Amino acid sequence: MSSVIAQLMRKHLMTPEQLQSIREKCSLVKKSVQDISVEMGIVREEDLFDAALQISGSPTVDLDQSRIDSALIKLVPFAMARGHGIFPVQRDEDTLTVAMSDPSNVVVRDELRFVTDLEIKPVLCRKNQISEYIKKFYHPDTVQQILKNTLEDSPLEQIEREPLSSEEIVDLALLSSDNSSFIKLVHKIICDAVEGRASDVHIEPQEKNVEVRYRIDGYLKSVIKIPRNLHPRLAARIKILAQLDIAEQRKIQEGRIKAVIDGKKIDLRISVIPVFYGEKIVLRILESTESKFDLNQIGFERGELEVFKKAIGKTQGVILVTGPTGSGKTTTLYSALQHIKCETKNIMTIEDPIEYLIEGINQLQLSHSKDVNFSSGLKSILRQDPDVILVGEIRDKETAEIAFRASLTGHLVFSTLHTNNAASSVTRLFNLGLEPYFLSSSLVLLVSQRLVRMVCSKCRQAYNPDKHVLQKFKKYLQDVNIRKFYRGKGCSQCNFSGFYGRTSIFEILKVDDQIKDLIFNRASERLIFKTAVHNGMRSLIGSGVAKVAAGITTLEEVAKVTDVMEEREQPLVGPDEEKWDPSLLLAE
Ligand SMILES: [Zn+2]
Repeated sequence: MSSVIAQLMRKHLMTPEQLQSIREKCSLVKKSVQDISVEMGIVREEDLFDAALQISGSPTVDLDQSRIDSALIKLVPFAMARGHGIFPVQRDEDTLTVAMSDPSNVVVRDELRFVTDLEIKPVLCRKNQISEYIKKFYHPDTVQQILKNTLEDSPLEQIEREPLSSEEIVDLALLSSDNSSFIKLVHKIICDAVEGRASDVHIEPQEKNVEVRYRIDGYLKSVIKIPRNLHPRLAARIKILAQLDIAEQRKIQEGRIKAVIDGKKIDLRISVIPVFYGEKIVLRILESTESKFDLNQIGFERGELEVFKKAIGKTQGVILVTGPTGSGKTTTLYSALQHIKCETKNIMTIEDPIEYLIEGINQLQLSHSKDVNFSSGLKSILRQDPDVILVGEIRDKETAEIAFRASLTGHLVFSTLHTNNAASSVTRLFNLGLEPYFLSSSLVLLVSQRLVRMVCSKCRQAYNPDKHVLQKFKKYLQDVNIRKFYRGKGCSQCNFSGFYGRTSIFEILKVDDQIKDLIFNRASERLIFKTAVHNGMRSLIGSGVAKVAAGITTLEEVAKVTDVMEEREQPLVGPDEEKWDPSLLLAE
């Protein structure tokens, strides 16, 4: 145990149980106990610093206040600086002053002495400041500068790196310490994308240039133009990393790069499509699954979370998540699986395509050759005694029937539908040809969801929304107490978009006895919706407005993803319908 951790335990800032769970996580993600303890929120950065200070008694340093000699960077290799969290500050003849987050670490000091052949004087520094300086000094060039150097390199290098073995994790930062300007360029494009929270990078050859665009919070943004004559080599570089055939330039190719960026594990899915001016390349950036699929982080309010957790804790039934493409359905379902997975449960999925691989879950990819489709795949999964099944999407009657039948024989089934709201899923299933008794006895929960962008916290300011928009939301705004509306003015953190990150809004329809009766009697979508609202369900728009009231998003964002703007001016529920009784309507 490091002495810093021992000190934290002495001061009761960490319990033996917490240390145990941190160690378990460490073995999975290959990070230090200290880093994980901060990431898990068990220890504050400040406490780590104080503990290190008490133990080492070393002087401290604030790099912002120090004169940094950038020539010293050459003395400490990048891999070592980043791996141990150290940064060279100053050299005084035979002594090198080094900023460390844990100066009591003798092993690192010895290694440094060996590598630099200098006496080491450790000074204590905050970990995040060291990371910041490593990034700034070791990879100082912007993508534009690298591009300029690439153009000046003549002749352009021709030698390509050997293809990687399939499971090799690429440390792009290490690769870019090579002299190849193309590697540097690719590295920088990807790193900037990850740092800017982009979900996709588009590299698009056009008549004169190659346009590089990032998709951030759902919107594309152009970042750099590269002369088109560089494109073949840029494409080749990416294809080598993704183990694709560089000689083949006329076929669609798909590949994958496992990379580490700033210590974060990233999965990159590469797709190459030949278009008129060359190969268009799209890189999808997928974060590691542990951080991404956390039910507590995807936008459920406390009450909604309880309802959802209760439903996914059941041993049988059908839970459907609905919404158009790109509404966050997969994230919700993966988070649910991540939440309920345990060694006593056999969880199996059938997906098209598998978007993320989750440890401890058996995922079946629908094959393109048609020998496995949703229904045949589902049949074979059922022979393997699953407890929980995720069917990527219900598209046809056969799949729907197998899924619902399975739920009646002790399986919990998750799936998605392309419908606009929770209640319309019932209509869709009727239309597919499913019998009402089937639905009423199996359905547990219907969730409809959308993604909305979140207001940037750095540049948030009050504003008055457009009158027309306010009018459309009028009846929803009556129920909540909104003092001020907020939007982002635009700043460097949010790329001047005013938004930072996305969250989900939900409409959660609990299939209780009353709803079951309605479904059994083939009630209309409208009646099911109204009954659910009457029983406390919050509509998608209502859920969006609640997030507006909390200052998380804007009315305009909610308007974009819901049908509020198309609604009739009159409220749906008129005064005469206020005291309506669903059973009366059924009798009609
Ligand atoms: Zn901002």
